[in-house]
Amino acid sequence: MDVLGVKALKGLRKGKDAARGARVMVVGTGVTGLACAMALPKFGAETIVTDLKGGELSSADREAIARIEEAGAKYLPLSEAEGVAADALVLSPGIPTDDERLIELKTRAGAWMSEIELAYMLCEGRILAVTGTNGKTTTATLAGRILSDCFDDTRVAGNIGDAFIEAAAGSGPETVFVIEVSSYQLEGCFSFRPDVAIELNVQPDHLKRHGTMSAYAAVKARLLTRMTESGTAVLNADDMLVAAMAKGTRAGILNYSVERELERGAFLRSGLMVLRMGGEEEIIGDAGEMKIRGPHNEGNAIAAAVAARAMGAPAENIRKALKDFEGLKHRIETVGFARGVECVNDSKATNPDSTRAALKMFAGRAVTLIMCGDDKGFDYGGLYADIEAAGAKVIVMGAGLARVADELEARGATDVARAADMASAARIGLEMTPEGGALLLSPGSSSFDMYKNYEERGEDFRNEIRLAQ
Ligand code: ADP
Repeated sequence: MDVLGVKALKGLRKGKDAARGARVMVVGTGVTGLACAMALPKFGAETIVTDLKGGELSSADREAIARIEEAGAKYLPLSEAEGVAADALVLSPGIPTDDERLIELKTRAGAWMSEIELAYMLCEGRILAVTGTNGKTTTATLAGRILSDCFDDTRVAGNIGDAFIEAAAGSGPETVFVIEVSSYQLEGCFSFRPDVAIELNVQPDHLKRHGTMSAYAAVKARLLTRMTESGTAVLNADDMLVAAMAKGTRAGILNYSVERELERGAFLRSGLMVLRMGGEEEIIGDAGEMKIRGPHNEGNAIAAAVAARAMGAPAENIRKALKDFEGLKHRIETVGFARGVECVNDSKATNPDSTRAALKMFAGRAVTLIMCGDDKGFDYGGLYADIEAAGAKVIVMGAGLARVADELEARGATDVARAADMASAARIGLEMTPEGGALLLSPGSSSFDMYKNYEERGEDFRNEIRLAQ
């Protein structure tokens, strides 16, 4: 089987005709699968969609199938799809690439790939790509704000929202893409070659799928492997696993750090973002002017600034966009004050490191942390140490992370409470937190035990705080 998708698509070169006349099989009827089904017929591909579910179709499935067929694609149940030889098989990110139910499809197909890889083959223009465990959406959004100020046709897509393949339609040589890429999407990237790539960090998460941290880091590094000398890899020098990626790419390296000055790269000096290259220094931003807070956001902002600079954005546009950026919902977002307590929604914190980043921001203040979510087997030892150092109180909501309350008490913590739902978590939190302090929902795990997604969880918190005001 040829894993280089470019060849599989009838040997055509990369470009908007790469899929014309090819038979492309899309696996999955979720957001990504639907986006492929909508876009591929427009690129002239014979498009077949299947999924791995089997069994009775739900009403949501039937609705999805109707949309697929309306777009000019065809839906086949897996048993029928297995008999079809596709030129390319496109796997949605939620599907583990080694799923046994894919064996038959993979054997018959010319190649398999992710939607990012497919869209890359079909798009025209330049690409800035962002990956990392935490901070992708913030950084991609910032980079998008900067670049859209400089280039008329700037499109922000990928894991952040609209699929890359949707954004690829109608692109041209002047198009500038900012693409957020997850590790699941990178598993199916083979020729994907951004012009500029940002590697933010590799922190414990998604290990059920990737196995070990080194395997996870290796997947993240795939963003860089196809890059050439003409490209720029923007690497976080403060993250060991990211710093080590410099060895695996031919791209020019631009390191950044929020901890120390670098010989070559970007760093902070008295709050100013300095880019030093070949002995020359340029000020590309001012962290002191930014509305988003915390060292992690300084890192995200510096990464976006350097990458945008490498794409050709002038320093003044960078500085202005950094200054104007208000931050995103569900990421350390102050939703209001109740009884003199600042209430902060950080529902998007779905792993220990993102919660640690949030907690750092409340150093020196009384803070009560609400944790909740599925038990993904994380080691919270580092977070517990931070909680103790900050003297933070903790509320554990729901049954998913019940062990967190037990583990904290086993370490001697006395300010630990348990809450059945958000209403009681908010009520107890406001009772526990003195005036001037902060009540921080930064769950440290995903939301699926009690909610559809992190947004729903964050809205529940917002609502309870509104009721308490
Ligand atoms: P992603 O798209 O990678 O999930 P987001 O920008 O949506 O990243 O942020 C997700 C969570 O991680 C939020 O809670 C945010 O405060 C936190 N976060 C953002 N950037 C970083 C970073 N560089 N390091 C650690 N945590 C971060």
